[in-house]
Amino acid sequence: MTTAVAAPFRFFSLQVVRTRRLGPSLVRVTFSGADLHAFHSDGRDQSLSLFLPHPGQAEPVVPLELGDGWWQGWRELPDGIRAVMRSYTLRALRRDPDEIDIDFALHTPAGPASRWASRAAAGDRVLLLGPAVADNRAIRFRPPEGTDLVVLWGDETAVPAATAILESLPAGTRARAWLEVPHAGDLQDVATEADAEITWLVRHDGSPMAVDAVRAAQLPAAERPYVWIAGESGRVKELRRHFVGERGIDRRRVTFVGYWRRGMTEEQLRAAE
Ligand SMILES: Cc1cc2nc3c(=O)[nH]c(=O)nc-3n(C[C@H](O)[C@H](O)[C@H](O)COP(=O)(O)OP(=O)(O)OC[C@H]3O[C@@H](n4cnc5c(N)ncnc54)[C@H](O)[C@@H]3O)c2cc1C
Repeated sequence: MTTAVAAPFRFFSLQVVRTRRLGPSLVRVTFSGADLHAFHSDGRDQSLSLFLPHPGQAEPVVPLELGDGWWQGWRELPDGIRAVMRSYTLRALRRDPDEIDIDFALHTPAGPASRWASRAAAGDRVLLLGPAVADNRAIRFRPPEGTDLVVLWGDETAVPAATAILESLPAGTRARAWLEVPHAGDLQDVATEADAEITWLVRHDGSPMAVDAVRAAQLPAAERPYVWIAGESGRVKELRRHFVGERGIDRRRVTFVGYWRRGMTEEQLRAAE
């Protein structure tokens, strides 16, 4: 007898319902879709693969009719036809009606995804490769049992993940977070039951502040801290070195993810890894 195992990830066909500007650098896009009832996620830093159309296309081109062969078929399509694939984070999932939010950083120079988001309008169609199983491997924020302090750092691309993580922390969890954004207008209210101290860092002249600000800070005393760092990969590496090398935090207690790299598109970043 075989037991049916649900595939952890599947495609969802989505349409934009509405967009809302959260600040100069972030736009929230809300999507609906007939099969979103089958989308399940425990949230936190749940990452998703989004497939976007090129300008002039009514929908993203992914050969779903090839079943498991879609990836090979997609890669073989011409550059200007093949849907643009980019990684984003589930910011929120709501039921009744089924909707998800994704927050896009709008950056200069723009890329296909940030350009798409800046122009997104109700009815626009995208494809999402996302989770059908709530606890899945595209959730990386996993504090080990007994963690007594959660430390977070994220830039504007990781603010959606960091704020979703903060919202998910149970009451009484001690947390220290640094969120770095380009403009003062990008600051957001964060609803959390955790005992969290959140510092927003605004890059006035465009220069990153991450390491200096974090290095200068006194962390609350903790025996079993857990650190989560995500954003521009150069910053992420420096911060990881700081936490592991300078603060002596066990490397197994540090989760770090490069979300983008200055001067590289996501395709180039993936090819370089
Ligand atoms: C797991 C994961 C989760 C992510 N979640 C989110 C999310 O929720 N929201 C979000 O906005 N991003 C998120 N990102 C980052 C996003 O995938 C990248 O920023 C991506 O490069 C954007 O694609 P693009 O088409 O706009 O630009 P690309 O075509 O990939 O890049 C074009 C140019 O823009 C530069 N660039 C890319 N991003 C930025 C930026 N933020 N600021 C300045 N320059 C940039 C590149 O270096 C390149 O020079 C996530 C990435 C990962 C890996």
